[in-house]
Amino acid sequence: MLNETKEILKSYYGIDDNTLKFSDEVLEDISDQFENIKRVREYNQYKVLKAMQECRLSDNHFNWTTGYGYNDIGREKVEEIYSKVFGCEDSIVRPIIVNGTHALTLCLQGILRPGDELLSVTSKPYDTLEGVIGIREEKGSLKEFGVTYSQVDFLSSGDIDFDGIKEKINDKTKMVFIQRSKGYSWRKSLTISDIEKVVKFVKNIKEDVIVMVDNCYGEFIETKEPTEVGVDIMAGSLIKNPGGGLALTGGYIAGRKDLIELISYRLTTPGIGKECGLTFGTTRNVLQGFFMAPYIVSQALMGAIFCARSFEKLGYEVLPKFDDKRCDIIQIVKLNNEEEVIAFCQGTQSAAPVDSYVKPVPWAMPGYDSEVIMAAGAFVQGSSIELSSDAPIKPPYNVYFQGGLTFDHSKMGTLKAIEYIKKLGQ
Ligand SMILES: *Cc1c(COP(=O)(O)O)cnc(C)c1O
Repeated sequence: MLNETKEILKSYYGIDDNTLKFSDEVLEDISDQFENIKRVREYNQYKVLKAMQECRLSDNHFNWTTGYGYNDIGREKVEEIYSKVFGCEDSIVRPIIVNGTHALTLCLQGILRPGDELLSVTSKPYDTLEGVIGIREEKGSLKEFGVTYSQVDFLSSGDIDFDGIKEKINDKTKMVFIQRSKGYSWRKSLTISDIEKVVKFVKNIKEDVIVMVDNCYGEFIETKEPTEVGVDIMAGSLIKNPGGGLALTGGYIAGRKDLIELISYRLTTPGIGKECGLTFGTTRNVLQGFFMAPYIVSQALMGAIFCARSFEKLGYEVLPKFDDKRCDIIQIVKLNNEEEVIAFCQGTQSAAPVDSYVKPVPWAMPGYDSEVIMAAGAFVQGSSIELSSDAPIKPPYNVYFQGGLTFDHSKMGTLKAIEYIKKLGQ
């Protein structure tokens, strides 16, 4: 580390000598993990570059059309490149998909019909999907349209319950649903090889069952994506991994051509599908972000590992551990009490480039059964590929730490969190 760096860390950022020394030790501990991440990143970078070259991406794809948006070559190019990188037949990548939940909902509503059953094999899906499915009563849910829901929980070991899946698959089961990332629950995330096992297992029981993956936070963590190991359809958000911090909004859906067609009839109307719809000048940012994504994801991963090792060393329980195989960019740290949770989030907020002077406090957010605290300070509102942390204010006092467009910045987030927690004891 340069003397200039030490100086600015001390004089401006308030990181004391002990924490600096500690940080160096942490870096040493995690150097092997970093090497692995760099190897995956390199492959994914060349995979994306190859797709852009093979699709003959050109300057004129960054223009945009008006009105109906027929023959929007920029929009078509974005979707062609996504399909190629994700190794699938077709995709929908649009700014009019407002978030990840919307992308996932379009898949469910586009494919499922009255009388069909949806089977989640990774316990309860992400919070926002509960209302969509009808686990929580909501107007317009799948339940209201006669689609039933069933679920297989993880075993107490944290593994997938294959026997349970076999029991639950029946004549009505149209779709098997997998959530790749842990989201906001204390559980393992799934590796690509885990996902491949589920695909083989369920198709062996019922050949025509459709396997869908909630791919949020998973893109570019490994060298393959779910659609490259037999998954029929997957979806995610552009303000997470694949947007590379540059996409300003949007979501994507990727998979089998026949399913993309069905989904496109939900996106617009039956018969029109994905032939219409403007991109509003977003294709440049979306593609530049996609180009940057393998690198940005590697930075977020390195930041998560730094956070994991740091808090492990300080005596806290963390998930995943610093040397566990990573399946998403989320790091969970189990803190001791409310004060530590608040200090952690205020620390990461104080490291932000935007709104660093703001002090986040717990508040009663609709849809949550306890107060939550959220630290952000992002260039793109709500972006969670940028550094952020959040936590419900209740035992077991888990805080979720994710993102960071550069490792150095993410590291600062952890160092600040440590300093803020240290101050509590003084
Ligand atoms: C972020 C996320 C979603 C979608 O969330 P949005 O806020 O609607 O983009 C869905 N599933 C998982 C696992 C997620 O992490």
